[in-house]
Amino acid sequence: MSHDCLFCKIARHEIPAKVVHEDDEFIAFHDINPAAPVHLLLIPKRHIASLADIAPQDGEWLARMLRLVPRLAFENGANPLPEGGFRLVANAGIEGGQEVDHLHFHILGGARPWNKRAAPAA
Ligand code: 5GP
Ligand code: ZN
Repeated sequence: MSHDCLFCKIARHEIPAKVVHEDDEFIAFHDINPAAPVHLLLIPKRHIASLADIAPQDGEWLARMLRLVPRLAFENGANPLPEGGFRLVANAGIEGGQEVDHLHFHILGGARPWNKRAAPAA
């Protein structure tokens, strides 16, 4: 737990967020500045700075976190495979584009017609 970490504060419900999933270990919410029609952030409630801080004993909860990704994507508007799908992004460090130093997965989905291999418009 980190007292001045933004995502720890969201995990403790001290800062409001549009929460789409919460359990003992994880919380997922809408990104405040979405980069796609579906843009969720999935975080462990326990403070961990980034993927670079994962230890060997973290394998089991990390696998549980990964298994949430497709479920949350499809429950929150990502279109079914194969035409739909989702993107998982985890930034680490300044050159990795990380702005909030609490591990988070970006889950992106929805129609993005500017993609090279976009599904034809309906
Ligand atoms: P990063 O650049 O660290 O990988 O991603 C941080 C993400 O957090 C950004 O996409 C940004 O829009 C999002 N973000 C920053 N502050 C807040 C906030 O207060 N609430 C929510 N829901 N998202 C935030
Ligand atoms: Zn934190």
